[in-house]
Amino acid sequence: MSDTPAEELIEVLRNLREHARFAGELGVEHLSIDSPDDISATLATAAASSIQPTLSTKPISVPSRPAATDVIQPSESLFEDFAPAQTTLAKSSETLEQIWADIGDCTRCGLCEGRTQVVNTHGNRTARLMFVGEAPGADEDAQGKPFVGRAGQLLTKMIEAMGMKRDDVIIGNVNRCRPPGNRQPTLEEAAICRPFLFREIAAIQPEVIVVMGNTALRNLLEVREGITRVRGKFQDFRGIKVMPTFHPAYLLRDPSKKRETWEDLKMVMDYLEKNPPKTTG
Ligand code: URA
Repeated sequence: MSDTPAEELIEVLRNLREHARFAGELGVEHLSIDSPDDISATLATAAASSIQPTLSTKPISVPSRPAATDVIQPSESLFEDFAPAQTTLAKSSETLEQIWADIGDCTRCGLCEGRTQVVNTHGNRTARLMFVGEAPGADEDAQGKPFVGRAGQLLTKMIEAMGMKRDDVIIGNVNRCRPPGNRQPTLEEAAICRPFLFREIAAIQPEVIVVMGNTALRNLLEVREGITRVRGKFQDFRGIKVMPTFHPAYLLRDPSKKRETWEDLKMVMDYLEKNPPKTTG
């Protein structure tokens, strides 16, 4: 127990030094200490990825191409791997098969323990439009495809209302393994899995990504606000337009939000119509 402000300060510094030492052992080179939560999240992420200390201070770039054992790099903050979009996302020469082979029978986070199978991104690889959700539910876990349950059926209706077929688009999730009881993936679980999504995006190069719900929003974009505030306004992910909107599972719970979602999707349709693909030759 600290009695005076000076003693309290010494206590805080002692704790900080202890955090820094522990972080150093995990290979974390920079700690951004905005809040105690940031510290524990960074340490948990580093611990989960068995980072080896390194002299490199290079920030992570998107898309990262981590080796299988090396998915998470030490980062200045939890969100550094999607630093503000200053550059456009170069098309990668990786194929989705290469990315999926790298994911393999993944055991990088604890979600592997409860899942039936890894659920990779699915759909048209030349799609102009990508949808990103949170994580597989029970139906997806059983079938191995994203958005095949009730929320998926609603998503299919939304896509068809946009004048497209499901086969015209590509659909993925931030996390590829079903969280127990369909809970939200933790920050660490999302941080471990999302680099694969970024690699897929670099391989596919969609023109628009619709992020559905908070998990997709916060893991793709550098925003801390919720979907209700950000929805309906185009955002940028390394030169790719991103439209945040409500998650179809939320629409099943609150159908009154369908109207706003439709407004968001109409903006996507307008954008795609007004920016037809450039034909070559
Ligand atoms: N919810 C999601 O976020 N993703 C799915 O694949 C299914 C339901």
